[in-house]
Amino acid sequence: MEILPDRQKQVRQTGANPGQDSAAPIACDKHSAAGSVSQRACVFCGSRVVLYPIADALHLVHGPIGCAAYTWDIRGALSSGPQLHRNSFSTDLREMDVIYGGEKKLYHALIELIDAHQPEAAFVYSTCIVGVIGDDVAAVCKKVTAEKGIPVLPVASEGFKGTKKDGYRAACEAVYRLVGTGSTEDVGPHSINILGDFNLAGETWIIRDYYKRMGIDVVACITGDARIADIRRAHGAKLNLVQCSGSMTALGKKMEADYGIPQKRVSYFGIEDMAAALYEAARFFPDDPTILERAEDLVREEVEAITPQLREYRRRLEGRKAAIYVGGAFKAFSLVRALKLLGMQTAVVGSQTGGPEDYVKLQEICDPGTIVVDDSNPLELAQFCLEADVDLFIGGVKERPIAYKLGIAFCDHNHERKEPLAGFVGMLNFAREVCNSVNSPVWQFAPRKRRKAVPAQHQEIAV
Ligand code: SF4
Repeated sequence: MEILPDRQKQVRQTGANPGQDSAAPIACDKHSAAGSVSQRACVFCGSRVVLYPIADALHLVHGPIGCAAYTWDIRGALSSGPQLHRNSFSTDLREMDVIYGGEKKLYHALIELIDAHQPEAAFVYSTCIVGVIGDDVAAVCKKVTAEKGIPVLPVASEGFKGTKKDGYRAACEAVYRLVGTGSTEDVGPHSINILGDFNLAGETWIIRDYYKRMGIDVVACITGDARIADIRRAHGAKLNLVQCSGSMTALGKKMEADYGIPQKRVSYFGIEDMAAALYEAARFFPDDPTILERAEDLVREEVEAITPQLREYRRRLEGRKAAIYVGGAFKAFSLVRALKLLGMQTAVVGSQTGGPEDYVKLQEICDPGTIVVDDSNPLELAQFCLEADVDLFIGGVKERPIAYKLGIAFCDHNHERKEPLAGFVGMLNFAREVCNSVNSPVWQFAPRKRRKAVPAQHQEIAV
């Protein structure tokens, strides 16, 4: 297919240049090409997805009402307690505010909302227009902090000033101002923080329970089902386990530099990666070998429990092809491995925010001929899916319509899903969803460009 000249270095096909894939890495980590209509979200959106799961904080979007459109209903995160994060607050800046400035409006909105909801902290997100008119958001936050006695934290997330990754960094900087402000007296010697899981459908609870069963304390989950008090004492943990590394590496690095807490990259998707994440934590505490023993028992029990059903799903999925387009590349690694376990091949894989090493690794773990793409757009993705003749598209809210318009099964692996896909039980949920979607008879009625006969073993629907 024809690809915009400015984008050509961001697309590769594995095996097309033997031995060259890692020598000339895919171009990435740069602003989206003009005219490309990138699938990537803005800086503000990057901050918003990272910080919004903090359930007892007030989240105020300083900007026009349209920026606040990503409400909890679209990109949810579950809380076991307070539900304040489910509200979408905006200063609703209008023309007169743009002319005269929005600082007064921001101040009054904060005072009113803090009085009404008594949050533990407040985050104020700067949007594009705030960067243009130059409101001093930090000064307003400082003033309200002094008046109300809670941390009011500016998030420098003006939408135009970079990529979604810059939004992650802005979120990390804002949340880091809380770390180190609480007491660590009761934090035990075998303790971790879970960074980069957002508890979209209860994943944080599953993961937390695994670590608890191993005898490891979780001090703070940043930010799935998070509480301000936990984040304040997160510097007492002995290890940071960082998932969705694109969003939380910056926070992990700061905590390593300032508090000496090492960080390890983990993933909770798929059997292999889930088990590796548990063993990684267990091996970090060699002074208590029972932690590793409990981890081994846990993995054995959980894998045994799901294996018979996984075999059945594999039987119905063997040989099918998938496309993956997700926010962070680290999640893509896990998905490629999870699909392999189900007998499926990844034919197209890409991410919004992957770095050079991520793409080298993706090219290594994918089969020859796989299309690897950075910061793609709907036209490219649609064409890649048709050319590779995939049976499944795994992505988020912006990829769903592409798949459905092409008559391709879709699996939501982003913030909109309502079923947990992490942990061992999550792998089973994932397999069931993929099996039911791929084998749904509805695709027989979709105008696919290349119709294929559905093999007999794929025709029954999984339950
Ligand atoms: S790009 Fe700017 S205007 Fe658009 S949602 Fe992001 S912050 Fe708002």
